[in-house]
Amino acid sequence: MQLRNYINNQLVAPIGGQYLDNIDPSTGAVYSYIPDSDEKDVDMAVQAAKAAFPAWSALSTEIRADYLDKLAAGIEKRLEAFAKAESIDNGKPIKLARIVDIPRSVSNFRFFASAVRQFSTDTHDMGNEGFNYTLRQPIGVVACISPWNLPLYLFTWKIAPALAAGNCVIAKPSEITPMTAYLLSEVAIEVGLPAGVLNIIHGLGGKVGNALSHHPDIKAISFTGGTATGRIIAGIAAPQFKKLSLELGGKNPNIIFADCNLEAAVATSVRSSFQNQGQICLCGSRILVERSVYEVFKTAFLAKAAQLTNGDPLEETTQQGAIVSAAHYQKVLDCIALAKQEGGKILLGGNAITVKGRCEKGYFIAPTVIEGLPHNCRTNMEEIFGPVVTLTPFDTEEEALMLANATEYGLSATIWTENLRKAHRVAAKVQAGVVWINCWLVRDLRTPFGGVKNSGVGREGGAEALRFFTEAKNVCVVY
Ligand code: NDP
Repeated sequence: MQLRNYINNQLVAPIGGQYLDNIDPSTGAVYSYIPDSDEKDVDMAVQAAKAAFPAWSALSTEIRADYLDKLAAGIEKRLEAFAKAESIDNGKPIKLARIVDIPRSVSNFRFFASAVRQFSTDTHDMGNEGFNYTLRQPIGVVACISPWNLPLYLFTWKIAPALAAGNCVIAKPSEITPMTAYLLSEVAIEVGLPAGVLNIIHGLGGKVGNALSHHPDIKAISFTGGTATGRIIAGIAAPQFKKLSLELGGKNPNIIFADCNLEAAVATSVRSSFQNQGQICLCGSRILVERSVYEVFKTAFLAKAAQLTNGDPLEETTQQGAIVSAAHYQKVLDCIALAKQEGGKILLGGNAITVKGRCEKGYFIAPTVIEGLPHNCRTNMEEIFGPVVTLTPFDTEEEALMLANATEYGLSATIWTENLRKAHRVAAKVQAGVVWINCWLVRDLRTPFGGVKNSGVGREGGAEALRFFTEAKNVCVVY
């Protein structure tokens, strides 16, 4: 199967005629070809988007919101096909794609359809003198660049608010997981989205992503991906004064206090460590455990993690699928080797796995738990983004906070305690944009989402996203 770009409401071949292999990570085999697009394809999409912008931005909010609802319904109608495509492309268990990734993509469009219908702006009264009102106007042509770990989920999380706010979009999925973005372009054609409003360009970050960052007619970029890539994009876009939203990497602490509900903490920590093979930016990769319950927690955590079944992502019972690509598989294995060199003791996993049958050549790694490492070694400082967690004991609340805040990242944190005051005290002091108390990955789409320090700049979610994708214009009226 040969994928095509979606430009001006048509599926088109890349201008240069070049294609890249798309590999199924559960088998290691090429199963489709994706456009190896370049700046010419990007420019063609930008011209289509520019031409579409005056009419799209002039539509009533209600009509734009209706289009988003149609996109949601179009994905929902083909939920099973989308889930299967996501599972094959990414290596994630089909069950996860079916109950999390694709339903959330549907919700993203529905949520922002509803949010934009209720979006309001400010007025500032100056008493007898007059007043100000703020217009929130669409920016124009914007770029949305997303990663491979939650492909359609994060792709639509950006596209939906951008379109709702009246912008025209050039979107680039990761070249590693292009399939559901391609299916979305089919849905956009089916529902009759006006030509040029949404354009999807496939290809490499260094070519397509780079061209998007440079293009003078793209006025804002919403990016989710690694910190190093975010830095490159900011370096290109900032001197052009493009608006930037950067959602970057994480090395999130999962803090277990002795007075927590241990059973709940263990069960959720297994999920927050290994869901999607640990390839979620919000996974708690550093588990910090109060010393008095360290051994009890460790024993229960290892026992539960050992029960996770690695296997063919397309099988219903599989809990752990494949690592997304050969390169990332090798990176995670190198990180495990580094942890050993740094003196870490492997308590569980630590090795690649062969899944018999169809998936014999796939990229599988066992859930891995490591202890005995200093908090400031590379394993505890650098993002691994795989099924690898470390256990570190602490003695006091102050020490827990010191350890939690010791990395350059600040995306999310999880706190387990039954002590209400302590929970809120630690939540206030932990350096993270998103904090969960006695839970993990519970998402209310109205809330601000994003990181501090090297985990990003700006916030997504709810009104924050609609504000990002609009320009505020203050109008002052004097009586
Ligand atoms: P990358 O940064 O490698 O890629 C992200 C996207 O950027 C891809 O579409 C990629 O294209 C593109 N890209 C790569 N190079 C450039 C460039 N020079 N200019 C413009 N675009 C470029 O991240 P991964 O895909 O490897 O995703 C994993 C990372 O994403 C992790 O660090 C993870 O923490 C982070 N992440 C953050 C989240 C958050 O909300 N903060 C959520 C999810 C993930 P291509 O793949 O085609 O090269």
